[in-house]
Amino acid sequence: MIVSRFALAGVLAALAVASSPAVAKPAGHAAAEAQALDLSMKSIAMRSVRGENNRTIDVANLYKQALTAAGWAPGDIEITPVDDTAYLIATWKGTDASLKPLVISGHMDVVEANPADWKRNPFGPVVEDGILYGRGATDMKVSGALALSSLVELRRTGFKPRRSIVLEFSGDEETTMKTSEIIAGKLKDAELVINIDGGGGTFDEASGKPLFWSWDGAEKTYGDFRMEVTNPGGHSSAPRPDNAIVQLAHALEKVGAYRFPSEQNEITKEWFVKAAAFEAKPEVAAAMRAFAANKDDEKALAILRADPAKVGKVGTTCVPTMLSGGHALNALPQRATASINCRIFPGHSKAEIMAKLEQVVGMPVVKFTDITEGSLESPASPMRPDFLAATTSAIQAAWGKGLPIVPSQASGASDSMYFRHLGVPSYGASPIFTKDSEEFSHGLNERIRLVNIGPSITYFVNLISQLAK
Ligand SMILES: [Zn+2]
Repeated sequence: MIVSRFALAGVLAALAVASSPAVAKPAGHAAAEAQALDLSMKSIAMRSVRGENNRTIDVANLYKQALTAAGWAPGDIEITPVDDTAYLIATWKGTDASLKPLVISGHMDVVEANPADWKRNPFGPVVEDGILYGRGATDMKVSGALALSSLVELRRTGFKPRRSIVLEFSGDEETTMKTSEIIAGKLKDAELVINIDGGGGTFDEASGKPLFWSWDGAEKTYGDFRMEVTNPGGHSSAPRPDNAIVQLAHALEKVGAYRFPSEQNEITKEWFVKAAAFEAKPEVAAAMRAFAANKDDEKALAILRADPAKVGKVGTTCVPTMLSGGHALNALPQRATASINCRIFPGHSKAEIMAKLEQVVGMPVVKFTDITEGSLESPASPMRPDFLAATTSAIQAAWGKGLPIVPSQASGASDSMYFRHLGVPSYGASPIFTKDSEEFSHGLNERIRLVNIGPSITYFVNLISQLAK
């Protein structure tokens, strides 16, 4: 998925100069840094795209080789082919078998990239001026290499985890998520999951210094519903009193006018408080603070609902996205259908939201059907003190004290969805920082600044040793 962050305005630059923390010199992890870069280049060169010649299994074997060379028993590394892809689960056994494992979760597949459209070969990674270009640079082969190299570093320096550490990579996160679901099922007894494909930090556009770091502990549920009206139809010269298109239009008016109740959880509440400091428009910043204090503040809600970047954070949203009806210019319509796309606030089922839409429409002639594919309800993960303390100290060890940390709720589906659905807390907590203007996950000329390598190793070594000790 795309690393979620909020849009930054020019005012931020000024703010950054005033309050940006000094970038700490990371502790030396030279071998791990070199290995992370090497694994990044090698894995980006493997075209792990769904379909013909999918090389995801080669990435899995590359990772396995690196782990076994560092002391993992081959029997503790499972690579399982599924359709044209594969997944990997590698276990570093802890000394205390009574403790539930810590899971580090990522994925090996990437979104398709057409070399003809890129300035450089997407599968021929190259470094220019401190920037590594290639498909998967941010999503998420460099993150995968960094996590793996950090575990190798921990092992090399004699760390002995009390809690088992499971490193797992799905092979179809960008498409069907079949392996994601299998992995979550196998690891449903985990203590918690660090998903290195979510969250992340933002660099200031002008100075390149870190502005803030964000982690996510929740995501909205995706839902698609079809509304359909059918009618015996007939000749258009002899209209019946009821008309499928007119009835559907009435129903759509009601859906369009309806607002789901405003909602908060502890993650979105804190997001509004902290993100308000980075909001350019004073009236929006004031509305964000007012909403955080009272989710039913109508004045604040009106401002936030009018802002496309905020409306999704104050509750469930449903919008008509497709429409069709009728079959001839001179015939009464026998059928009219519309698709409604919903982004459901954590804590509600798709069935509950569809029932609410039916009630809002209140027309038995309009039939509702859930046509969602591949989406599961997932609750928000709790703001666990152990996770918060570990990430705070790890990210500040990497990038300096005082860096603002902002919890967020993601809008898209990630591998965390499957864990949260099973009740396992899962946190998007990638250490990768980017400038908003250089965020090209899934897009053209994807890239990452190599200044991330050192601090990211520091972060992972620090974070994993705290959570597994
Ligand atoms: Zn991803």
